[in-house]
Amino acid sequence: MNWSGVIDRYRSFLPVSDRTPVVTLNEGNTPLLAAPRLGEAVGSGLQVYLKCEGFNPTGSFKDRGMTLAISKALEAKARAVICASTGNTSASAAAYAARAGLRAFVLVPRGGIALGKLSQAAIHGAEVLMVDGSFDQALTLVKEIAERHPVTLVNSINPFRLEGQKTAAFEVVDQLGRAPDYHLIPVGNAGNISAYWQGYREYHLAKLGQARPKMVGFQAAGAAPIYENRVIHEPKTIATAIKIGNPANWARATAALEESGGWIEVVTDEEILHAYRLLASGEGIFMEPASAAAVAGLLKMAKQGRFEPGSTLVLTLTGHGLKDPDTALEHSSRPVTVPPKLDALLSALSL
Ligand SMILES: *Cc1c(COP(=O)(O)O)cnc(C)c1O
Repeated sequence: MNWSGVIDRYRSFLPVSDRTPVVTLNEGNTPLLAAPRLGEAVGSGLQVYLKCEGFNPTGSFKDRGMTLAISKALEAKARAVICASTGNTSASAAAYAARAGLRAFVLVPRGGIALGKLSQAAIHGAEVLMVDGSFDQALTLVKEIAERHPVTLVNSINPFRLEGQKTAAFEVVDQLGRAPDYHLIPVGNAGNISAYWQGYREYHLAKLGQARPKMVGFQAAGAAPIYENRVIHEPKTIATAIKIGNPANWARATAALEESGGWIEVVTDEEILHAYRLLASGEGIFMEPASAAAVAGLLKMAKQGRFEPGSTLVLTLTGHGLKDPDTALEHSSRPVTVPPKLDALLSALSL
C-alpha cells in the first residue's frame, strides 16, 4: 500500500476537513516487531511486541502529533509556532514547520538536551533558545507567550498533538489484528499515554478493536511526579526525554490509568541503562534511554508477576537511539586502537 502519512490513513478519526492543508513527512506506519528474546527473558508465555516509533521521519513519535498540529496551524493562517522541549518535540516542530514554511521557535533546557535532537532543530532552521532552567519552566514561558502573541503553541497541550498521536494505537490494533492485553509506555509530559488510551477507546467504540488494553506507564525514579503524586522541582534522570517534574497531561494520564485498569511504576536509571543495552544487543534495536524505560518496566513487572500469563504486551519505543549518541558511547565498550598490521589485529580479535 502507498502510505502517505497518518492524516491520510486515519482521516475519518481526525479533526480535519477538505480545507485543511496537510503537512506530512509520511510519518506513521512504523514497525510492530515481535521481541522473542525479551519474551523468553520474561517467561510466563508472554508475547512481547515493540512499536518502534523511533523509525518516524524525525526519529520519534512526536511526528504523529506534529503533522496534525502544523497542518491545523497552517489552516488557521498561523505564521509561526513555538514549543518548549526536552528535544524531540523541537526536532519534529522544526522539521514540519520547515515543510510548511512557518517560523519555529523552540525553547530547550540548557544542558538537558541530547546532541542529535539539538542538531535537528538547528539544521531545520528553527530559532533555538537555550533556557537556563528546567523544561517545566520553559513550558510555562512558552504558554504565556502563545497566549499573548500571534504564535501557535505546539506542545502536547495543543489538542491536535494528542489527536495525531492516538493514531499509533490504531496502527497497533491494525497490525496485531486486535488490541493487546497490556500497553507499556514511558511517561514524561504524559501526552502519549493519554493519546494511546484515546485511540484505543475510539477504535473500540468504532468496533475496530474488541478489547482495550491496560495502560501501564513508567517514569524514571528521579522524575516520577505521577507515581509520587507530587510535583518534582528538580527532576533527575539519564532519560532526558522523560525528565519532567510537572506533566502537562497529568489528569488525562491518571484517567487513562484508572479507566483502563492499568498502573504507573518507576524504574531507576540503572534499570533503564540495562534495558537500553539489552534492547540494542539482544534485539538489534537502538532506541534512546527514555524508550528503554518501558523495557526496564517490562522486566521489573514481569519479575513481580504483574502480567496475566500468556498475555500479549505492546511496548512503545518512543525515540531513536541515534538521538543521543553520547549516552550510547558512554555505556558501551570503547573501540580498541590497533596499528595497521595483521598480527596486531589478529591478537586484538582473539578469534
Ligand atoms: C516525548 C517523549 C517521551 C515522553 O512522552 P510524553 O508524551 O511527554 O509522556 C518519551 N520518550 C521520548 C523519546 C520522547 O520524545
